[in-house]
Amino acid sequence: MVTVGVLALQGDVLEHLQLLEELGVRAKAVKRPRDLAGVEGLVIPGGESTTIGGLLIASGLVEPIRELAEKGVPILGTCAGAILLASRVKDRVVGETSQPLLGLMDIAVVRNAFGRQRESFIAELEVERVGRLKVAFIRAPAIAEAWGRSRITGYVDHPELGRVGAAAEQGNMIAVTFHPEITGERRLHQYFVERIKR
Ligand code: GLN
Repeated sequence: MVTVGVLALQGDVLEHLQLLEELGVRAKAVKRPRDLAGVEGLVIPGGESTTIGGLLIASGLVEPIRELAEKGVPILGTCAGAILLASRVKDRVVGETSQPLLGLMDIAVVRNAFGRQRESFIAELEVERVGRLKVAFIRAPAIAEAWGRSRITGYVDHPELGRVGAAAEQGNMIAVTFHPEITGERRLHQYFVERIKR
């Protein structure tokens, strides 16, 4: 059985653990470096990226997660998780955030790109190799740019902002700006688990 870790410092931890269990994999909460032992894939959930980033440093998980990525272990970052994977981050309102990041992907993201909590929405979008997904955008970021080894693989059509980057892939890593777990959408996790098995 495949073992997938879910970074469990803050945010939508339980929802991801549950979804993974439903897909028949062993899901494990990761709070400290030793929890990464035996983990074959890692999900970084949505939540508050500044909080999770600070806790990543406090718990000594930054370097161990970077090493995992270097070894080619698949990593999926959703929403705040996508922000933490990015190497360049700005906030739509306050600009530069200089927050702690893992900085593993060649993507630039704009935090809170769609506005505040009340501007949250559910949308359907097509993600390359994954399919059509129905997901929630909650104070979501946008993927503004991808370069180097990274590629944008999905866009959401927004009534005011137009076509906005919502998914990107880079080798073993996937960043999505939305929450699949809130709408019970399983296809992204299925795709992620298949990649681990390959
Ligand atoms: N706005 C949050 C942040 O910047 C992300 C929101 C989320 O993960 N739903 O970290």
